[in-house]
Amino acid sequence: MKIVVIGGGACGLKAACRARRRDPEAEITVIEAGRYPSLGRCGLPYYVGGIVNELDDLRKTLAGVVRDVQYFKRLKNIEVLAETKVKEIDRQRKVVKIVKDGSEDEIPYDYLVLAMGAKPIRLDLPNADAEGVVTLFDPEDAEKILDLWDEGVLEKAVIIGGGLIGLEAAEALSNLDVEVTVVELLDHVLPALLDREMAMLVQSHLAEKGIKVLTGSRVTEIIAKDGKVAGVKVNGINEIEANLVLMAVGVRPNVDLAKACGLEIGETGAIKVNEYLQTSDESIYAGGDCVENINLITGKPIYMPLGTIAVKHGRIIGDNVTGGRSTFPGVIGTTILKVFDLNVARTGLTEKQAKELGYDVITALCPGPDRTHFMPGQKPIRIKLIADAKTGKLLGAQMVGLGVVDKRIDIVATAIQMGATIDDLANFDLAYAPPYSTVTDTLIHAANVARNKRDGLYKTISSFELKEKLDRGEDIVLLDIRSDEEYRKFKRIEDPRVLRIPLEKLRENVDKIPKDKEIIVLCQIGSRAYEAMRILAGYGFKNVKAMEGGMAFWFW
Ligand SMILES: Cc1cc2nc3c(=O)[nH]c(=O)nc-3n(C[C@H](O)[C@H](O)[C@H](O)COP(=O)(O)OP(=O)(O)OC[C@H]3O[C@@H](n4cnc5c(N)ncnc54)[C@H](O)[C@@H]3O)c2cc1C
Repeated sequence: MKIVVIGGGACGLKAACRARRRDPEAEITVIEAGRYPSLGRCGLPYYVGGIVNELDDLRKTLAGVVRDVQYFKRLKNIEVLAETKVKEIDRQRKVVKIVKDGSEDEIPYDYLVLAMGAKPIRLDLPNADAEGVVTLFDPEDAEKILDLWDEGVLEKAVIIGGGLIGLEAAEALSNLDVEVTVVELLDHVLPALLDREMAMLVQSHLAEKGIKVLTGSRVTEIIAKDGKVAGVKVNGINEIEANLVLMAVGVRPNVDLAKACGLEIGETGAIKVNEYLQTSDESIYAGGDCVENINLITGKPIYMPLGTIAVKHGRIIGDNVTGGRSTFPGVIGTTILKVFDLNVARTGLTEKQAKELGYDVITALCPGPDRTHFMPGQKPIRIKLIADAKTGKLLGAQMVGLGVVDKRIDIVATAIQMGATIDDLANFDLAYAPPYSTVTDTLIHAANVARNKRDGLYKTISSFELKEKLDRGEDIVLLDIRSDEEYRKFKRIEDPRVLRIPLEKLRENVDKIPKDKEIIVLCQIGSRAYEAMRILAGYGFKNVKAMEGGMAFWFW
């Protein structure tokens, strides 16, 4: 049995290793165009930022052994051909044509695995070929950035794109004391991952860390002097000085070989595979960043290039090219990243994506602590849940905070995959002791907020809507129910329409609140505003809403 794998990255090598474990006899060859098979791209920002010292650290086993060509040969009896490129697949003759150092050869296969990954998108801008224009995708890109830094010429950088890689790169460059500006075309950072209010939390944190973010802005030109980057032009007018321009505007599936040999390409532009990860040719399997997946929520194809998905694909392909029948159900897009001190995570659909798909949604914004307030080291987190208004089924979640969000996003990811509703989530039997969570975890609170909204107990207005009302000059009452101390200490809205009555004094001062006006209740994180609304409902107030998420979501 001859198994040939194209691509020695996350998916390809996982497929090869799994195949070897199941079939000690198979002849397994992995062909890798680059110099560093098995190098985890996900670690590149940490290498640039000096968190990881050596490039080889990114391809070491837990025991510290570098997974190089010899490692795969000695330990796994897998032939890895590095710096060797596949230039053609001949499906009739079942051979791949390879080229190494200018000389060509052919390798026959019984099963072929396509794991060619993705390619970073390079914008076709004037002077895009100038020295100092990079992506952060291959190890060579990281080396290029560090070379510039070593030469002492890297002082200012512009990152085009405020997505996951752009923001990880911003932190890495900032660690090197580089002045960073992120230019994002859409109206907030992480547009594919977060809704606007959650992204604004990230933007505030970036600003605190000295990163300048220009949203709703387009880089229209790279300015070069003597062939080297000198800056960029934004929106055709403003110039920003820079010695480095890092394009982080996404990736495209690497499908050239697949297209050329006539394999079916899906509607997302990536290779189409069935649940066995088999392409339109039954001898050819494909996985990782070069294929499309099924979105488990929508049932539609989706392109989701993530390492965690690539290795799962690899394992399944390893099974199936050695006689197995493993299947891959699909993805929901669970993603996490660190932006300086902030943990940022999402799963499923954003509110915007859900609405675009036609869902009628209930959302809940819930700020809270990550563990009991009296425990030292407790940190804030902000949770947004998105659920289907008709069925209560969870559709997505976003979490941003200095505190622990990874376990909470994984709970929601699991819940979504199991088809859970907000009612199920509210009653999940989660672990509690003061050092780990609050007795009702902030995530459970979020589910309860969503339930209260569904049941009409909690009417809310977003901070964006409130800002618009204020700007329009609407005659409303902003009822701030925070304590005097909180009012002094935290952000406040300076406006004559603000009426201050701390929650404890609300009942005794209820006659000071006009019944004929719309009342918007403000508190620090939203929970006491709910309390106040219920009190006011008891006194017959009809037109009362809370600003959802409280002042934690006031950005002005
Ligand atoms: C900076 C950065 C940070 C990331 N962070 C995360 C993260 O935190 N979490 C996460 O889940 N994912 C992350 N990712 C995504 C993750 O790295 C990819 O999803 C994953 O590497 C995909 O694995 P793959 O095997 O499909 O492709 P790759 O790992 O890219 O491997 C494909 C390989 O195929 C080779 N190849 C291509 N064409 C040929 C050819 N014709 N002949 C021979 N070889 C060929 C390429 O050289 C490449 O080595 C990150 C990516 C980047 C760039």
